[in-house]
Amino acid sequence: MMTAWQDGDGQPVAVDEIVDKLATTRFAPSPTGLLHLGHAWSAVQAHDLARAANGRFLLRIEDIDAARSRDEHVAAILADLAWLGLEWDGPVLFQSQRLATYGSALERLRQAGLVYRCFCTRAEIAASASAPHGSEGPVYPGTCRRLTAAEERADEPHCWRIDMAAATARAGPLTWHDAHAGTVSADPMAAGDVVLARKDAPSSYHLSVVVDDAAQGVTDIVRGTDLFDATHVHRVLQALLDLPTPRYHHHALLVGSDGERLAKRRGAPTLAAMRAAGEDGHALAQRLRQGQLPLGFAVAAP
Ligand code: GLU
Repeated sequence: MMTAWQDGDGQPVAVDEIVDKLATTRFAPSPTGLLHLGHAWSAVQAHDLARAANGRFLLRIEDIDAARSRDEHVAAILADLAWLGLEWDGPVLFQSQRLATYGSALERLRQAGLVYRCFCTRAEIAASASAPHGSEGPVYPGTCRRLTAAEERADEPHCWRIDMAAATARAGPLTWHDAHAGTVSADPMAAGDVVLARKDAPSSYHLSVVVDDAAQGVTDIVRGTDLFDATHVHRVLQALLDLPTPRYHHHALLVGSDGERLAKRRGAPTLAAMRAAGEDGHALAQRLRQGQLPLGFAVAAP
């Protein structure tokens, strides 16, 4: 047991117990569209986990996709959270202001020989008949992995991909913990050589999320099971960049009456529309806490 604080009764309290109670969670939406009920479901859980632990609930705007991110969506996100009664702690972190930090992390991986430039277009990757599908679409077939310096056209548009075989060999066997799934063996090879810096941005979701969760001291990541497989990739990046591994709480997704998960593009009712219609956001959040969903919605079976 580490050095102890004293609690109110003068009883010693182990430091690790205190740390355990001080969970830091975050809600990290991308402002590429309006939030829907599934986001509220996720945000309530992240918020409540932090509050139950006397911890912090942070808000991070994942806006590295400059072409698709909109200021009006950021404004709507802030208004939605206030409407739901979910107060976040501290300043809002915008990923678009942290590109240099992600660049440094990429540079570290580049110097370790674990990333490479990729010049392939989406169409070329899709056309590669052998490409198996992972949770993010076709697994990259590795076309650019072994380009020689002479073959590289560094002045042409390119992204940076992780050499996942080399990365997993370097990192060794890894595990992570999920509140529902228990101890999970990391299996990043299934995702393949994912993109760490996009053609149009000096980072990607995977790289920035790992860097920021560490920078913000996030101890508990509450997010939907749609990102469960991404965690295998995140775990490897944490190992390679010497970052701590948070605890994960991948929760079941909300689905519509057709059993399909809610997504912005499928016309799920937005929180902004509910707000505009005069619905009570605090009451909605309370019902979500009790597992009561509006008609036509359900929690997906695990
Ligand atoms: N920005 C991601 C999204 O909107 C969520 C990232 C995360 O929770 O790790 O889907």
